Amino acid sequence: MTKPLNESSRKAQIKVLAVSTYELGHQPLVLARLASTFETAMIGYSICDNSVANRTFTNYDDFLLDDKTPPTHLFISVPMHTATQLGKTIANRARAILGNSVQIIAVGLYANVALAATSAFNTAIVSQESAKILDILGIDPTDASPTQSIPPDRTALPGLQNYAHLISGGEKKLSGYVETTIGCAHLCKHCPVPVVFHGKFKAVPSKLVIEQINQLYEEGARHITFGDPDFLNGPAHALKIARAMHKAHPDMTFDATVKVEHILEQREIWSEFKDLGLVFVVSAFEHTSDLILSKLGKGHTRSDIISALELLRVYGIEVRPSLMPFTPWTDRASLIDLIEFLFDYELLESVDPVQLSIRLLVPLESLILTVSDTEIGPWNSELLSYQWHSRDQTIDELQFELATIAEESQARELNAITTFTLMRDSIYRHFNLQIPLRETSSSSCGNKPRLSESWFCCAEPTRVQFDRLG
Ligand code: SF4
Repeated sequence: MTKPLNESSRKAQIKVLAVSTYELGHQPLVLARLASTFETAMIGYSICDNSVANRTFTNYDDFLLDDKTPPTHLFISVPMHTATQLGKTIANRARAILGNSVQIIAVGLYANVALAATSAFNTAIVSQESAKILDILGIDPTDASPTQSIPPDRTALPGLQNYAHLISGGEKKLSGYVETTIGCAHLCKHCPVPVVFHGKFKAVPSKLVIEQINQLYEEGARHITFGDPDFLNGPAHALKIARAMHKAHPDMTFDATVKVEHILEQREIWSEFKDLGLVFVVSAFEHTSDLILSKLGKGHTRSDIISALELLRVYGIEVRPSLMPFTPWTDRASLIDLIEFLFDYELLESVDPVQLSIRLLVPLESLILTVSDTEIGPWNSELLSYQWHSRDQTIDELQFELATIAEESQARELNAITTFTLMRDSIYRHFNLQIPLRETSSSSCGNKPRLSESWFCCAEPTRVQFDRLG
């Protein structure tokens, strides 16, 4: 069908630059989804994954497309807090350098937060559905392919060797990243996902997921990270995909994110998942305090965490917990319990040290605002969060100290056991308590399966990440 002339002309005038700053060390799926829409609609575009490209965006040339033309539209991917902080800086610089000749669009889970953070953004788009993207570009979206029917296009992204790989038993494997669902069925109060998806999720057709896995295998991936908010929101869907992947690629391993509640509910699934190549599960333990877990609406308790750990370990599946130690309800006893728990349950190698310094963020419309007895202050567009302070001011100081230890230890390449020992000492010293002696074995250090990049989803960007922007 011949397109109306005015639409063809319109398309010819559009020049898109799509930028990602950080997607947890994996290939940026947001850019790949945008690329598939631009390709299908035959729009001129370039993509820049700045976690690899290292542009400063302090000069005009850094904003040019590959054909050296300036963008009419700049999409900045903001899938989580860290990327939003970095994306905000790029948006401000784009506005200063390119003026009003460019439309700047925040895209991803934090798009509305980014829009509220700086007037440099013209608009925000949370989902990457083709029709919405075309609409923003002023193109008739009625004949857009449904996003659910076309796979993300990774061809213009840097190769897998530039991203996190699996480290396991002294071996390194190239790793690919896919999602089998969008959204999440749960309503955890601190999480940005329910703000957008309201406790709902939808499955990505399994054919589309397998197609992506096949492409990634062709590119050399021998490990897949299923990056769904929760892989077991749809257990039958997850199992179907894991079975199909294993049948096609028996040497492929995988990891997935699963909440404690689902680990325990789906007791029967783990033996088969292990056989299908599962090497570790990321699980948002958040804390060991039952009070804090209930305030966060996590649906699990301290004893559930222990049961989940024990269950997975029966099958030789490691757990890599993510944490939320610093909340308005955190006190001395709960912090000491948390650090001792990591030592007691031999989790030092399984937690990225930065996790012990994570402080609750309260983004726009956060469900945490509905929790009674929480004293939340005004919105702070620098922090991208409503402000709150601990009742005990020394706890805020301790959080800063632990974040510094995590960052410095990473720069000095200290192992996890050394880093957590420094953090434990810091916690006890901070509360003027004697540091109890305890034995830690470093013999297994480095043997547990993990990805080669630390995980900074809810943390402030590190100095290294900010330094990229000059
Ligand atoms: S924390 Fe995990 S399970 Fe809870 S709402 Fe967020 S994504 Fe869903």
